[in-house]
Amino acid sequence: MAGQTIYLDHHATTPLDPRVLEAMLPFYGARFGNPHSSSHRVGRAAAEAVDAARAEVAALVGAHAGEIIFTSGATEANNLAILGSLAACQGDAAFVTTSVEHASVRQTAAVLAETGRRVTILPVGPDGRLDPVQVESVLTPAVGLVSVILANNEIGVIQPLEEIGRLCRRAGVRLHADAAQAAGKIPVDVERLGVDLLSLSAHKIYGPMGIGALYVRGGVALRPLFHGGAQEGGLRPGTLPTALCVGFGAACRLAREERAAEAARLADLRDRLFARLANALPDLRLNGSALHRLPGNLNISLPDVEAEDWLAAVPELALSTGAACASGSQAPSHVLRAIGLTEAEIQGSIRIGIGRFTAVEEIDRAAALLLRRLAALRRDDG
Ligand code: PMP
Repeated sequence: MAGQTIYLDHHATTPLDPRVLEAMLPFYGARFGNPHSSSHRVGRAAAEAVDAARAEVAALVGAHAGEIIFTSGATEANNLAILGSLAACQGDAAFVTTSVEHASVRQTAAVLAETGRRVTILPVGPDGRLDPVQVESVLTPAVGLVSVILANNEIGVIQPLEEIGRLCRRAGVRLHADAAQAAGKIPVDVERLGVDLLSLSAHKIYGPMGIGALYVRGGVALRPLFHGGAQEGGLRPGTLPTALCVGFGAACRLAREERAAEAARLADLRDRLFARLANALPDLRLNGSALHRLPGNLNISLPDVEAEDWLAAVPELALSTGAACASGSQAPSHVLRAIGLTEAEIQGSIRIGIGRFTAVEEIDRAAALLLRRLAALRRDDG
């Protein structure tokens, strides 16, 4: 893919699956109708395609089609879940979240705190996991919403959402999960997790950029962020992009059908890559739980290496030091800091994301290149 580049940054985004693109193309041509134009066949045909896509998105997470609100992505879904929930609560309800959230939750929490809202940020353990006891200890009637990332976008760690869901239900507190990195990679079922709200993004599951969804459990009241037409039950006004909805639906169907086999293959590739690197580098550290982890994720550090230098030495590989949303900010990863890494360890960390089209030969070549160029770097430094 992408010429000679071996793409290992699947947490930033995934390539569009050719089968998804094929499903989308007619909607950029003959099937151009506005899905909200119900007075003619052109509009109704688009509406049917959107309905079918909505059913596919719902099926991926065990929801009903009527509980899926299309958004521009998981950023918007997270904002709608949090701001929309708190605006719908009586009085000044508090917000609870974790120290390892994506920027779209973290920054929303920061703005809430700035405007005087009570915000609690729960810590995670050295393995990156939130202890449900931490959640239990802050669940009071004053809490309007708890928001927990299901699978982390940097260290791939999967949170014990099911247990957290049980606690929230028992306390009668609403629970939101950011499942942008989890859906299509691990089983996600809104009933089993006990969530009221769940955010999704198409471009993390081989669908198009610019579309996502918020699952809203039936009966859960939200205030919209935008004002306009009656689309999406008035919760998200604006004309739906039919082609993107169709692409998202197709991506969800493929994820549902192929997830289990794909996850096993990705976990094998991930373990193969880690073993090659760890065998040659005794001081290599795996950041975050090895057990509760996305199948395609590695996050590794070396104490004496600047990750930026290491990555610059392997231009054949598309890798990153952390979240794409944070790159350019130069701020050290808040996730790695939250699990207790020192600044030097954070500077030495690399995120690897293996995906659907990654071949075993690419994994072997990536391992060889990383090791060879690291040896050269160390020689130059030494
Ligand atoms: N949450 C998580 C965990 C993510 O990884 C991302 C994408 N980096 C988002 C939310 C935002 O998704 P989108 O790009 O669809 O806005």
